[in-house]
Amino acid sequence: MPTPLIAGNWKMNGSLTLVEDFGQAFADADLPEGVEMALMVPFPFLQAAGRAFAGSRLALGAQTLSDQPSGAFTGEVSGEMLRELGAGLVLVGHSERRTLFGEDDAAVLARVRAALVVGLRPVLCLGETLEERDAGRTEAVVLGQLEAVCDALAADERTRLVIAYEPVWAIGTGRTATPQQAQAVHAAIRTRLAAYDAGLAEGMQLLYGGSMKAANAAELLAQPDIDGGLVGGASLQVDDFLAICQSA
Ligand code: PGA
Repeated sequence: MPTPLIAGNWKMNGSLTLVEDFGQAFADADLPEGVEMALMVPFPFLQAAGRAFAGSRLALGAQTLSDQPSGAFTGEVSGEMLRELGAGLVLVGHSERRTLFGEDDAAVLARVRAALVVGLRPVLCLGETLEERDAGRTEAVVLGQLEAVCDALAADERTRLVIAYEPVWAIGTGRTATPQQAQAVHAAIRTRLAAYDAGLAEGMQLLYGGSMKAANAAELLAQPDIDGGLVGGASLQVDDFLAICQSA
């Protein structure tokens, strides 16, 4: 069984004060054993978050990275810089990056590689739009996004991924996939991973994301192929995020 992982994604939200609040709350909280917890904060908060989370079990993550190691790329942030600030994880291929910033499968793969090279764990996000789901294309889309990355990686690189299934229609909409809908896609992802390697499939942390909150987390996390959550909106409230971690 993979270790459960609850990761918060603040997106372009939060503040230095909220970073401090999370550090304090997680240092003091009663947290379940054997559960990994992480928070993906905006770049400018990484250094403060590294300090604030140092005494807690919250790991530090970023929300994207450049596909280049360094150079004349104004406004970009490299994986090495994220490592230097103490990040261990980085989101790659979030649907907002794919749709709002034009990151296609090739761009996602390049960022996964850039993360792996510097020892960051990429959290590879996959998900279908409502239109694709309604057209019966959910598995084709999600597995296509998965293969675009995994086919290109070496076996030992695949084992360093975390995968998050996030149906686009459930992100930030308050409309969560039912546990059954989510489980079905997670099972399909794990089956596809088993075609690469049985051990890869068994060990992969498969997170669900899309309007996960304290009220629905336990039911989602109880599904056999859901190993954790990627939490957006509900990761901005200390109590909500703590409650989700505690239900893992
Ligand atoms: P949400 O976002 O929990 O607000 O739906 C999830 C995500 O985008 O990672």
